[in-house]
Amino acid sequence: QLPPFDYQPKPYLGPSAEQVLEKRKRFLGPSLFYYYQKPLNIVEGKMQYLFDESGRRYLDAFAGIVTVSCGHCHPDIVNAITEQNNLLQHATTIYLHHAIADFAEALASKMPGNLKVVYFVNSGTEANELAMLMARLYSGNLGMIALRNAYHGGSSNTIGLTALNTWKYPIPQGEIHHVVNPDPYRGIFGSNAALYAQDVQDHIDFGSSGKVAGFIAETIQGVGGSVELAPGYLKHVYDIVRKAGGVCIADEVQTGFGRTGNHYWGFQTQGVIPDIVTMAKGIGNGLPLGAVVTTPEIANVMAQKIQFNTFGGNPVCSVGGLAVLRVIDKEKRQAHCANVGSHLIGRLRALQERHDIIGDVRGRGLMVGVELVTDRKEKTPAKAETAILFEKLRELGVLVGKGGLHGNVFRIKPPMCFTKDDADFLVDALDYAMSKL
Ligand code: PMP
Repeated sequence: QLPPFDYQPKPYLGPSAEQVLEKRKRFLGPSLFYYYQKPLNIVEGKMQYLFDESGRRYLDAFAGIVTVSCGHCHPDIVNAITEQNNLLQHATTIYLHHAIADFAEALASKMPGNLKVVYFVNSGTEANELAMLMARLYSGNLGMIALRNAYHGGSSNTIGLTALNTWKYPIPQGEIHHVVNPDPYRGIFGSNAALYAQDVQDHIDFGSSGKVAGFIAETIQGVGGSVELAPGYLKHVYDIVRKAGGVCIADEVQTGFGRTGNHYWGFQTQGVIPDIVTMAKGIGNGLPLGAVVTTPEIANVMAQKIQFNTFGGNPVCSVGGLAVLRVIDKEKRQAHCANVGSHLIGRLRALQERHDIIGDVRGRGLMVGVELVTDRKEKTPAKAETAILFEKLRELGVLVGKGGLHGNVFRIKPPMCFTKDDADFLVDALDYAMSKL
């Protein structure tokens, strides 16, 4: 039984799942994929729950791919954007509007150091595109360094930064290099951050011209399977990259806004301050919004030309983003994520004692990964078993994400209003499903 929740979904009168699927197959591109064998038709959402066409409730432990930060249709956010929708939806940033300025000010106040200049875009991909352009212009160099197992977007440039072959097309991606991933579970140097960092140094010294435009990394790799970088890695690498003339970019598209617990940003868990921070997803609780925040020095190089996009920071998205920041403060979400996250991770580790299939439990706050293996010593990915358990969890009313190089990692990244009772329900469901495997 799901934890009690006092909300009745509205009656649904729309098309059936079969009808939607049929239309989607005919009119949406062939590379779209579906998460379940029988795709789920979601018609309503309330906080950490989703409802299908029959009114069935599901615990949403994936938050629309780590995007619904505060909860589905959070009333404060709905009220803010509804009010703005009735006043002005769009006028473009060539005019003044108070919301974009207020939102930029509020976002800058959440940043450490000299990270005070904000650019609004519409997605994580666009944010990383812009960050890459800034790094190249500022440094005067071309070479970008990213980690293996990274995901940074799907546009022509950012697909080059992404290092997961399921996403890559065979098109030229010049001057982008991938270094050894500091993955404590599968990485060749275990948790030894200094050795992984040496690979970056070696790459600069021996594998390139010696010049670097920028280095980009997620502090916990999202699509790659909730892989947390070895502790201390970014400190070493930021030093190396800056000495070689490059700038350091933190991709906070998944890790930002308190999700990792106790901090506002994932990079703070590594004790560094980047030169450029990119963000999207949780920034808008589902509104199409992204941002790049950088220093005045770096922003200055962008002044050579016009940097502008039509929608970025439009009034509705800005008002929505501002409401998100206020909710996170009001509901003290960083502390909540730390608290519920450590309860969840503790219970998953106890489960690991009883189920050999759990090779690794990792993560921080509400950004958690459970990697499944058929052999703990060899770490053989349990691909087929993951697929079966994934379907079984859905039957039991729990929606999680899937990821990792081999698709054998459950990604648990719910809306940040997720409770300890929800965590217990999820772990009990996983326990039951595993015992039936
Ligand atoms: N960076 C990271 C870390 C991501 O997880 C994603 C999306 N999964 C992106 C960038 C790209 O974001 P978007 O899908 O909004 O373009």
